[in-house]
Amino acid sequence: MKADLPKSVEIREVGPRDGLQNEATIPVEERIALIDALSGTGLAAIEAASFVHPKAIPPMAGSAEVMRGITRVPGVRYRALVPNERGALDALECDVDEIEVVMSVSETHNRKNINMSPEDSVGQIVELTNLAHGQDTPVEAILSTAFGCAYEGDIAPDRVALYARRVLDEAGVDGLSFGDTSGMATPRVVLELLDALGKVDIDISHIGLHFHNTRNTGLANILVAMQQGVCRFDAAIGGLGGCPYSPGATGNVATEDVVHMIEDLGASTGIDLERLIECGLLAEELVGRQLPAQVLRSGPRTRTVDN
Ligand code: ZN
Repeated sequence: MKADLPKSVEIREVGPRDGLQNEATIPVEERIALIDALSGTGLAAIEAASFVHPKAIPPMAGSAEVMRGITRVPGVRYRALVPNERGALDALECDVDEIEVVMSVSETHNRKNINMSPEDSVGQIVELTNLAHGQDTPVEAILSTAFGCAYEGDIAPDRVALYARRVLDEAGVDGLSFGDTSGMATPRVVLELLDALGKVDIDISHIGLHFHNTRNTGLANILVAMQQGVCRFDAAIGGLGGCPYSPGATGNVATEDVVHMIEDLGASTGIDLERLIECGLLAEELVGRQLPAQVLRSGPRTRTVDN
């Protein structure tokens, strides 16, 4: 089995955006400090900011200051989420390395979230991609609710595959990733989606997957996806992303836990786990509570106790 796994896996850190946007507002300087610490771990990509209207998501206010304040480490790609043209222009002005655009495959979720039909979202992704490409900036489309929707329940994998194919063909996006917005992915659902993507000729080795650990299947989802050849995953330091105001809501899979498992399988992430754990401790300090990452508490299995 091990021989079939990818030899290297890219982990993209989403804590500073996906994680912190669900927290009480954290000062810009502290967001910068977290990103700078993460930049020194060997991570290849960090989702650093979201250029949304500050009234829509107050914790992401000041994203331009964050992007301008961080120390750019060569080899790290600093990514930002943009919801519309204004956001894309602001992000491009800050010289982000990659732009992320999101649409929900679920009609209901897309309307509630961004007040658009999925059809209109495809059109918007075309426009934003043209804008970014005009300034030589790559674009990734994130298809959210790809593994299920809290409003609609199961989402047909063929429907996800259809939209994935369309944003590739119609917008010419440079990357595709699939988000488990509602934490409904299980290994079975992951395999069904990967199968559907294969049927529309989407190369599994070029996609990214984004899991939440809502039902504790995050690592299992990653493992089955790796066995199928997926080699890019999002994760958040400490497992940030759960909303402190809604009981039971859990965050993204924790970067510490994901890196620990993948490295142990013999695949390389390029990330220094001990440094990552220090970032997890910093993240706990910033949000003022214990975070769910387990390796953050236990350390790696190879860490021994002096006696
Ligand atoms: Zn997430």
